Parts: sequence; C-alpha cells; structure tokens
Amino acid sequence: MTKRTKIQNKLMHYPSVIELSKSALENNFRFLHDYYGEDVRISSVVKANAYGHGIREFVPIAESCGIDHFSVFSLDEAMQVRSALKNHADVMVMGWVDPADLEIAIAEEFEFFVFEPDVLPLAVEASKKIGKKAKIHLEIETGMNRTGLTPVELKQSVKILKQNPEHFIIRGLCTHYAGAESISNYFRIQKQVKNYNRTYKWLARQGIVPDIMHTACSAASVAYPKTRMDMVRVGILQYGFWPSPETFIYYTHGNHTNHNPLSHVISWKSSVMSIKRVKSGEFVSYGTTYLAKEDMRIAIVPAGYSTGYSRSLSNQGRVLIRGHRVGVVGMVNMNMLVIDITGIEEVQLGDEVVFIGCQGDQEITVASFVEFSDQLNYEVLARLPQNIPRIVVD
Ligand SMILES: *Cc1c(COP(=O)(O)O)cnc(C)c1O
Repeated sequence: MTKRTKIQNKLMHYPSVIELSKSALENNFRFLHDYYGEDVRISSVVKANAYGHGIREFVPIAESCGIDHFSVFSLDEAMQVRSALKNHADVMVMGWVDPADLEIAIAEEFEFFVFEPDVLPLAVEASKKIGKKAKIHLEIETGMNRTGLTPVELKQSVKILKQNPEHFIIRGLCTHYAGAESISNYFRIQKQVKNYNRTYKWLARQGIVPDIMHTACSAASVAYPKTRMDMVRVGILQYGFWPSPETFIYYTHGNHTNHNPLSHVISWKSSVMSIKRVKSGEFVSYGTTYLAKEDMRIAIVPAGYSTGYSRSLSNQGRVLIRGHRVGVVGMVNMNMLVIDITGIEEVQLGDEVVFIGCQGDQEITVASFVEFSDQLNYEVLARLPQNIPRIVVD
C-alpha cells in the first residue's frame, strides 16, 4: 500500500499514474442497468478523454460490462473510441464534425447530431460519394439555447430529408437539458420536455419517425425519470460521481436509502521524490506564501500544474501518505509540489502519495478538489492530462 505495487513499478519512469478500477465500473453499470430497467439503453459518454479516465483504457472495460453505445463530442474522439473497441459498438458524435469530414463520418458509420440544416445537403453529397447512408440524430432546440434545430430549421431539415430518403437513416431525435442537476431549473426543464414531446409528434405527422428518442444526461435520468425514454446518455454517473449533491439527495430520498450505490473508478497517485527538514522561520517553495512556523519535515512530489494538479491548490490541497491526510504547502509548481510530513517519521523516498482515491481508510475525493479550487468535479476530471499513464486494476 505504501510502496508502489508491482504493476506500477513498470511505470516508475512516470511521475504519476491514474488507476481505473474495473470492479468499480462493473458495479456502477450493474446499478445503472437495474435502476433504469431493461428497456433503456445506456450510451456511455466518453468525451473529454472519458472524463479524464482515458478513452483507450476505459472503453474496453465498459465494453466488457456490456456497453455497446458510446457518445463523444468530436470526430477525432469517435476515431479514438473506434480504435479502442474490441467488438462492434455504435459511436455517436454529439458535437463537432467539420463539414469537410462528413465523408469520413459516413464511411466509418459514425452516428452524428444534426443541429444546422445546412449540413444536410452536404451530407447528401457525401453519402452519394461514399455509397452509404448518413446515420443522423436530429438535435432540436427545446430551451437550452445552445445547439439544436429551431422549429423553422427543423422544417427546412424535414424537407431535405424527405427529398433524400435514400441518403439518411434517422437514428434518433434528441435534445439536451439546461441544468437538470439543480432544482432551480425545474420549470425550464419541464418546458423542454414538453417541447420535445410536441416536436416528436409533429415530426411523426410529417412522416418522420426516428428510431429512438433520447434526451437524458446523468442528472435528468435521476431527477426526471420520464426523460429516460429509449436511451440515456450517461457520463458522470458511470464514473461513480453524482452530477451534484442535490441529485444524490434526490436519489436517496426517492429510493428510501442512505446508501451510495456508486463507486469511484479513478485514482491518481504519485510518490515521494525527495525529503528534507526545514527550520522554523524559513519559507517553503517559490516566494513567501508559506512560512514554516515550526521545524518541519517536508516531502517533494513530482506533480504540478503541467501534470494536472491545479495551481489553485497551492497551500490548499490535501494528499494521502502512509494513511495520513496531509496538506500541500507553498505554491504548486509546474512539475512539483511540497507536502507537510512533519511528525510522520516513517515516510520514506518512494512512498505512495494519493491525490485522488483511497489509502487505508482515508479517501481524497474529487469533490474535495472542487471545494478548494472552485472547479466542478467535471472540470477536475476533464483536465487530467492525456500524458499521465492509465492502468486498469481490479
Ligand atoms: C456531456 C453530455 C452528456 C452527459 O452528461 P453527464 O452529466 O456527464 O451525464 C449527455 N448529453 C450531452 C449532449 C452531453 O454533451
């Protein structure tokens, strides 16, 4: 526990590593399947490098849990998912496909959101050239005022779709809610659901019936069960995090339980690279932000803001070492940070330092980062750099 495990030793030349717990992910998907029921398909949202978990490592474990639908933001991420897959799965781009890349998207049979009518004629041309149909999801504007076809744009789109049925498979009708994790948006969300259902019916009257209806992200799937429809686009929950404390409370109240059914998949660890003593009255690290008020023992750890440990955690962050929770002292540097190990005499070079995750009976959660650095848990995860190696553990 205190020294790096054997598998990590292979990664000793990396200053820190991210571990993904397979059993935690299995637990989360088992829970979500039971919770949503058999009729609701789960699309695993793996944009932003699988919320920092690493697409390459995360996708195969999700697949082994029975997931066969993945959602990403952009075409490059779709390619990464495709190359990580062991078997066939549907891959859906919810955001950016450069019009110049439509041929690639169609040739690779990626599904993609359409939120601009101008894309459709281009997709027709691309489809003709490739000889395959474009698999599209019509994303409609229901009240978020971000991407989504307005009623006028939807009309224009329907016209093009009806003129070119041989070039399209209309896989879905979708929308996204403007903050389902907070009750303060309750009326806005309800209105969006109404708009969505009204639009679905209108489309059906035009003779267009999408294969599936999907609207819910994690928060909506918990707080507004009727938004689950045919498929739920699950991001944060699958990784073991609640979208907000409110969503968790909504879940526990509604289900008469205090138990958190989710487990965190991610841990982030490093180790001690240097140890020294500092006399009372000395400053630690750059500048004068930390003054030793007693004789101290400090440990230097090879992680900094270039490797994902935010500078806003200077003099604020907490880490685990030898089962103790200790503080970051002084400024977080580009590649190093300093922790206070005064009084923990057993600390040695090479000892494991946990930034996120468990050690003994202690845990540092992403939420604690959130408190100290004023970031969302989504942001902390999504900012974890790609160049930290990810390893899968049981
Ligand atoms: C990111 C995203 C999701 C998933 O959101 P979570 O809150 O992580 O579940 C779902 N749908 C869309 C359109 C998204 O962009």
